[in-house]
Amino acid sequence: MARYHADIEAAIARVIASNRYILGNEVDAFEEEFARFLGVPRVIGVNSGTDALSIALIALGLGPGDEVIVPALTAIATAVAVQRIGAIVRIVDIEPITRGLDPEALAQAISPRTAAVIVVHLHGMPARIADISHIAAARGLSLVEDCAHAHGMMMDGGMAGSFGDAAAFSFYPTKNLGAIGDGGAVVVRAPDAAERARRARFHGQDRAGLCVQAGMNSRLDEIQAAVLRSLLPHLTADNASRREAAARYEAALMPLAAAGRLRLPQRAAGAVWHQYAVEITGRDRVRQAMRECGVETEIHYAPALHRHPALIGEGPLPACPVAERLADTLLSLPIQPELMPQQPRIVAALSKAASSVEPVS
Ligand SMILES: *Cc1c(COP(=O)(O)O)cnc(C)c1O
Repeated sequence: MARYHADIEAAIARVIASNRYILGNEVDAFEEEFARFLGVPRVIGVNSGTDALSIALIALGLGPGDEVIVPALTAIATAVAVQRIGAIVRIVDIEPITRGLDPEALAQAISPRTAAVIVVHLHGMPARIADISHIAAARGLSLVEDCAHAHGMMMDGGMAGSFGDAAAFSFYPTKNLGAIGDGGAVVVRAPDAAERARRARFHGQDRAGLCVQAGMNSRLDEIQAAVLRSLLPHLTADNASRREAAARYEAALMPLAAAGRLRLPQRAAGAVWHQYAVEITGRDRVRQAMRECGVETEIHYAPALHRHPALIGEGPLPACPVAERLADTLLSLPIQPELMPQQPRIVAALSKAASSVEPVS
């Protein structure tokens, strides 16, 4: 974010001069600008992506005892947001190409208590939204898109976040659109649900100040909103840089992939590459070898959700073989625009480290 420091400082100075810090003009303006950018009727600014998911569920009428299906490979926040409103997390396997929820596994997992499904566009690649929307509609489930990796991603003729009954965005500093602290946004389609989301972010109060529903303190502050307004105009170009970097990785790593040393992510047209993660065996050794060459990599995510003790209830562990395999093998290479001058060095370090690994199965 260093390249935008001047814009960020100007935004902060504007807020200090206004002497208003919570839910003011900057938040209103950001909500409007981000809604226009996404092509959705409205956006509601909240305190984090996790809160955005919880508030989306509350807005859609979910509460204690309702079951919500989540994919087995995602940030734990996706499941924690469900638990926090007293709903029950149901973990379902992903499919290997999109790394998103597997529509067939979803259809099989739906029970009479299932009320909603959360789709995650993992790593900024489009999940199989058309198939999943179809199943959700046919089975009467609400559909929520977790767009924490997918700001500005065009897919199937619309932007990520415009397909579900609701969507949640995170502006954690490392996301494709990041604030300088915590922040998030909820997209809700139906006007009455939007009203519930607005109340939910402010203690469940209605416009007259009466507490009329479940709520929390999850307001977006003016400084984060002002900073986000200054960064939003750069998002499209930054996403384009990520796509170019992904294309360069693909070209450079193709020989290793052809030799079976690693598997590249799918070539997804609209992807915004929040992460560029390859599948590789002996990942920990590869990471260590790359670190010795001065290249830091990351893991998103391990273990899979159902391996976190507090995220599953009693009963047998759900079978999620694809998520297990990817949790063991995915290695995220640097893809942030400001790191891309180092890309040749990253490719060289990976090529060297991968020459001695077992082929990926
Ligand atoms: C970052 C993230 C969240 C949570 O966002 P916070 O702003 O950190 O609360 C939710 N889901 C996914 C997939 C994420 O990566």
